[in-house]
Amino acid sequence: MTTGRPAPPRTHRRPRSRRVRIALVSGAVAVLLAVAVVAAVVVVPLVRPPGPRPLFQLPVACGETWQLGTYPGHDDFDVDLFPTEGEAWGRPVLASYAGEVTVAGINGSLGGRNPRNPDGPRGRGGGYWVKIDHGGRWETQYLHLLEPPLVRVGQRVAQGEQIGRVGSTGNSGAPHLHYEQRRGWEKVEAHFDGAPSGITHDDTEYTVRRTSRNCVPG
Ligand SMILES: [Zn+2]
Repeated sequence: MTTGRPAPPRTHRRPRSRRVRIALVSGAVAVLLAVAVVAAVVVVPLVRPPGPRPLFQLPVACGETWQLGTYPGHDDFDVDLFPTEGEAWGRPVLASYAGEVTVAGINGSLGGRNPRNPDGPRGRGGGYWVKIDHGGRWETQYLHLLEPPLVRVGQRVAQGEQIGRVGSTGNSGAPHLHYEQRRGWEKVEAHFDGAPSGITHDDTEYTVRRTSRNCVPG
């Protein structure tokens, strides 16, 4: 015999709401984890202070002397390189420093300038180009290459490794290498072999000669 009222039949209400609550909590935890992962992987590297400047070398063959210059309307810190001897067309373009290729493709449009047709139609932008991530938020860029880059995205390159050849694709008046060094989001004054280039703004035309120390180590 029972005393008092029998216990009410168990409903499914509580277990179901507990299950819903667990699902909601796990969903929230998953979202928080995803946010944390995005913050760690994407945001932290972007706000982390840049590392020390790599010992960049001229992006051309060891021992060669090139003219580095800029002109009004170029852009601050942009460097155009022309050889002081011989033809510019097809000269090897070398990685300034070891790193990982993050861009190897076409910027803007190629146009139609090549050694057989140097005054062909001008393209837009950088033409064939390469971007290398050197770690510590340092990057270099190489524009107007003659042909598709010799490297591919994701490839590790050594300092001095050839990544392309000098050309005049994109918005380029004559065969040359347009080159930039970047720290984080900003272009900075290009340094070579530890010395500043002196190219800081594009208010006036400015040129300087430097000899490449981009020599294979050892
Ligand atoms: Zn340029």
